[in-house]
Amino acid sequence: MSSATAPRTQQSIEEIEVGAYTVPTDAPEADGTLAWDSTTIVVVHAHAAGTAGLGFTYADLSTAKLIESKLGSIVRGRDAMAPQGAWAAMIREIRNLGRPGIASMAIAAVDLALWDLKARLLGLPLCTLIGTANDRVPIYGSGGFTSYSNQRLAEQLAGWVERGIPRVKMKVGSVPAADPERVRSARRAIGPNAQLFVDANGAYSREQALDLAERFRAECDVSWFEEPVSSDDLEGLRFLREHGPAGMPIAAGEYGYDAGYFQRMLDAGAVDVLQADVTRCGGITELLRVGALCRARSMPMSLHCGPAIHLHPGLALEQLVHLEYFHDHVRIEQLLFDGVVLPREGALFPDLDRPGNGLELKRSEAERYAV
Ligand SMILES: [Mg+2]
Repeated sequence: MSSATAPRTQQSIEEIEVGAYTVPTDAPEADGTLAWDSTTIVVVHAHAAGTAGLGFTYADLSTAKLIESKLGSIVRGRDAMAPQGAWAAMIREIRNLGRPGIASMAIAAVDLALWDLKARLLGLPLCTLIGTANDRVPIYGSGGFTSYSNQRLAEQLAGWVERGIPRVKMKVGSVPAADPERVRSARRAIGPNAQLFVDANGAYSREQALDLAERFRAECDVSWFEEPVSSDDLEGLRFLREHGPAGMPIAAGEYGYDAGYFQRMLDAGAVDVLQADVTRCGGITELLRVGALCRARSMPMSLHCGPAIHLHPGLALEQLVHLEYFHDHVRIEQLLFDGVVLPREGALFPDLDRPGNGLELKRSEAERYAV
C-alpha cells in the first residue's frame, strides 16, 4: 500500500454573500399560464482564501432572504473542497421548511457558488473540475412569448436561425384557438429546415393537447411538445406520449426540485426527454444525480433556461441533447455578467482560459437593479 499522502488542500468557506436584482423585461412576456414584466436573479458569492465563487438562480427575493437567514451560517467554516458535504448540511437544515421551491433554489445558488469556488481555488475551469463528456452544449433559441405580436414572434425566431441556431421554441396556450395560426406564422418565418418546438406550460387539457399536437405536427412539422398538459398530470403526459403523433417528443421537468421528482416522472413514463434546471434542482450536486438517472434509462436530457450558469455542468452530462437559450435570461446574463459566451455553430463552448464558470458580476451595473 502506498504511503504517499494527498496534498492538503483544505480551505474554509469564509463568507456567503448574496444579492438580488430585478431587471425589467424589454417587452411584456407571457406563456400559456403566466405573464410577467420583470425577472429577479439571486446571485451568491462564496468566499475563501481571497477567492470568490459565483452562483445564481432566477427566483423570488425570499430566496435571497433564506440564504442570508439560514444557509450562510450552515456553510461558513466548512471545507471549500467538499461542496457535496455542504449540500448535505443545507438539505438537513431546511427539513422543516419543505424541499421544493424556495429552499431548493436557495441551495442551488449556494451549491453553484461552492462548485465554482472550488474550481477557482484549484485554478481550473469549472467543467474541468466536474469532468466533461462533450466539448460543447447545443442550444435552442427560446422566447416566442404569447404576448408578442405575430410579427415580433417571427422576427425573434428567424433571428436565431439566421445566427446559426437550428432549433427554436415558442410559447403557446394563452389563447388556444389562436395557436395554429401563430405556429404557422413561426414556421413561415424560420423556413422549412430549422426545428420548431412549442411549450404550452401546462395550459391545455389532455384532449385539447392531443388535437393541437396533431395539427402542429401535420401543418408545421413541430418536433417538440413541452408541457402539453400540467407537469403534475403525469398520466396526462403519458397519454400524450402514447397517443400523439410520431416525431414529436413530449418534454417536462423544469419544476423538478429534487432527484425524487425526476425519478417519479421517469417511473411514470411521462416524458420522451427529461428537462432539468440546475438553478432549481439543488445545484450541480443534484443535477449530476439526475444525469445518472437519465443515463441508467437511456433517457435524453435537456437543460432549462439560465444558459450562462448551465454551460459548465451541461458539458458533464452524457445524455444531454440541448440547452434552452432563453431570451429573458440571455439578456439579463449579458447585462450583469462579464464572461458570458456567445453562440457559435448552434452551441455554447466554454472559455477554458477563464477560471471556474468564467463569470464575473458587473457590480456597478448590477447595483442599478438591486432590490
Ligand atoms: Mg418550459
